[in-house]
Amino acid sequence: MKREQNFRRAKKVIPGGVNSPARAYSRVDVEPPFIEKGEGPYLYDTAGNRYIDYVNSWGALIFGHAYPAVVEAVRKAAEKGTSFGAPTERETELAKLVREAFPSIEMIRFVNSGTEATMSALRLARGLTGRDLVVKMSGCYHGHGDSFLVEAGSGPATLGRPNSPGVPKVLSRKTITVPYNDGQAVEEAFDRYAGEIAAVILEPAAANMGVVPPIPGYLQKLRDITEAHDSLLIFDEVITGFRVAFGGCQELYEVEADLTCLGKIVGGGLPVGAFGGRAEVMNHLAPAGPVYQAGTLSGNPLATAAGLVTLQALKEKNIYRKLDRRTEFLTTELENFARELQLTLQIQWLPGLFSLFFTESEVTSFEDAKRSDNQLFKKYFEQALSANIYLPPSPFESNFISLAHDDKILRKTLRILKEILNQL
Ligand SMILES: *Cc1c(COP(=O)(O)O)cnc(C)c1O
Repeated sequence: MKREQNFRRAKKVIPGGVNSPARAYSRVDVEPPFIEKGEGPYLYDTAGNRYIDYVNSWGALIFGHAYPAVVEAVRKAAEKGTSFGAPTERETELAKLVREAFPSIEMIRFVNSGTEATMSALRLARGLTGRDLVVKMSGCYHGHGDSFLVEAGSGPATLGRPNSPGVPKVLSRKTITVPYNDGQAVEEAFDRYAGEIAAVILEPAAANMGVVPPIPGYLQKLRDITEAHDSLLIFDEVITGFRVAFGGCQELYEVEADLTCLGKIVGGGLPVGAFGGRAEVMNHLAPAGPVYQAGTLSGNPLATAAGLVTLQALKEKNIYRKLDRRTEFLTTELENFARELQLTLQIQWLPGLFSLFFTESEVTSFEDAKRSDNQLFKKYFEQALSANIYLPPSPFESNFISLAHDDKILRKTLRILKEILNQL
């Protein structure tokens, strides 16, 4: 079936035709392909097209689609039952693997999505400190929890306002939003609200405004400020965990968080989120402690099976070097080509993810990212889709490379993208 027809039918029974807004392609003028299957680096739609996929389920897939070890593990697990709502050995095994990757995590709790992970981590931080305020950064995304759907108030370091109807105003006033990569702004927030801030939460390398790495010293500064104020530092590594390195940004930048949120890759493509930290912190969670958090399907056998084989496979030697080298190859080639053409284009990347900003200078904040030329992006996106390259449909979403994207796939992608850039 053609995508227009599919989308029309879907919109009759699902709001906007999708179960998560980004899938609706609102920022571009095309209708979203409906997917029939995935295989390695490819997606196949219901109209018979095969795309090279640079979304990879928004970063959840690091080995590509239908990775045989994951499929086999899920099949085997399913044969023995899909949910028990009771403890299993595999949950302990997965917890131990995560702990190996992240030295700052002694204990971890599994949930069903990144949203649940950040919401629960924040509740834990509030419960532990007895404080209500949280500091977040504009341009970072932490899922759709009420405390995160908040925009900055007027003036620096002021209390926030809802950025979605349905978020209580009183709750939005508990969130302070400051610019990303601005340690001074966080300091000001702590000066102003001394003793009231439970936690600072951020993507240690931002990937939801395009790829925006932390400037040197930024993460350490946040570490120092939060420590000085007995406040918790929460790293949302839902994207970066197990992607930029086995131990995420904490391995890459050598700064440790008090609480780490995980999602996407940790579930091997099944619905999983997790949050973890030191035992003394995590033991405040029910039933060990007073902070309530629960989930009927949390730690379910299919999800833990997929997560476990994925993390085991990621422990193989040199796997992150490979991912790093491939991302570097693709982005450097594109960058050189853009320079030859004198295109206004910034390419920013970390191992396994990258983004293109159609703007003059390096992007270090959401303000910078918003200067990117949306018209150019739209053209680039639409032409790529016509040429069967499946890119994220927004300049603020990152492109993801999987280990199924071998040199041949990357070279083919380059050939097509260069042609498109040449015609922009
Ligand atoms: C995707 C994402 C989330 C939310 O995860 P869901 O599984 O979509 O709820 C949270 N934080 C970051 C950094 C993300 O990229």
